[in-house]
Amino acid sequence: MRHKITLIPGDGIGPEIIKVVVSVLDIVGAQIEWDIYEDAQNVPDIVESVKKNKVALKGPISTPIGGGYRSINVQLRKELDMYANVRPAQSMKGVDTPFQNVDIVVIRENLEDLYAGIEFKEGEVETQDLIDYIAGIGKDKEPRIVSPRMGDDVGISIKPISIYESERIANFAFKYAIKNNRKKITAIHKANIIKYTDGLFLETVRQVAKKYPKIEFEDKIVDATAMALVRYPQEFDMLLCPNLYGDILSDLCAGPVGGLGVAPSANIGDECAIFEAVHGSAPSMAGQNKANPAAVLLSAVMMLEYLGEKEIAKKIDLAIKSVIKKEKNVTYDLCSGKKGGVGTQEMGQAIIKKL
Ligand code: NAD
Repeated sequence: MRHKITLIPGDGIGPEIIKVVVSVLDIVGAQIEWDIYEDAQNVPDIVESVKKNKVALKGPISTPIGGGYRSINVQLRKELDMYANVRPAQSMKGVDTPFQNVDIVVIRENLEDLYAGIEFKEGEVETQDLIDYIAGIGKDKEPRIVSPRMGDDVGISIKPISIYESERIANFAFKYAIKNNRKKITAIHKANIIKYTDGLFLETVRQVAKKYPKIEFEDKIVDATAMALVRYPQEFDMLLCPNLYGDILSDLCAGPVGGLGVAPSANIGDECAIFEAVHGSAPSMAGQNKANPAAVLLSAVMMLEYLGEKEIAKKIDLAIKSVIKKEKNVTYDLCSGKKGGVGTQEMGQAIIKKL
């Protein structure tokens, strides 16, 4: 079947790794017509294209730190209602790491939490109004604000978490577990401290878990989870996380399986999906033919599975893993001692040769 797919090469290392994917998909005879958007700032047209085509493959897009415009990645997730972020981390033969047999899927809520973008800059009138408002709440009762001080040098970021989105992501995670023969889901939170948001998330996913008795369910505090993931990652199966913890822990999970160069992901909604590597645009490596193309290639494998092209997906997956296993034609990040390694395009060629 022929598929029309939106392609956003992104910036930094994006165009060079996306080039590898396009060649690989071409060589295996995937019937794909690319609808290409070189300018990632053109969000309205990209949104229209993804709504029409239903599926997109995306390279990383840089976001300025601190000030500047808001993340285009986050904007796309919101505008396309892609509420679930799926991030698998699986051990591969040939990757030099102290951990074997790691197989974790992180399911990250993709729209709420501190990623909502509701922020109040320090020193602005609205921020002071908000501080005054908060200070006034319950003045005559038990004081809400126990912080030592909230002066005019405070910035505020709001963390909304709803029953609706918590239920939606929990149902997605349990259905994913059943479909993919997973056994256990661990919900991640800091509900002991952050009671009305993480607490609400935890209580909601606990209720949803009751509908899926065949899947084992537990919950764990995020800091304890971070420690456990670098001690015995093999004990985890699926992590169900609010947005920010999911972002951080999925990078952490990539560590024991070889790093960001091999970590794929999918943003999924009820209407459409965007596939992309977990990593960012790595600006210091851009244009140097150094970046590992495997993460975005494995994201393309997830995309092909989503499209029902299971055979082609399997072929590419095996070719990537075979090249990594041989340890010869891989980029610097997969070389022991971090010396040497071949270029992005050369690793791509080795995968193509294998195919
Ligand atoms: P990054 O993921 O770009 O890089 C972190 C580290 O991982 C770097 O040391 C880099 O060398 C290494 N790395 C990343 N990709 C690699 C690859 N394919 N092969 C080998 N090594 C790789 O994270 P960052 O430096 O924090 O972010 C850079 C920019 O990317 C920022 O502007 C950030 O906002 C953006 N970003 C975008 C996305 C996205 O588009 N979804 C995700 C994360 C970060």
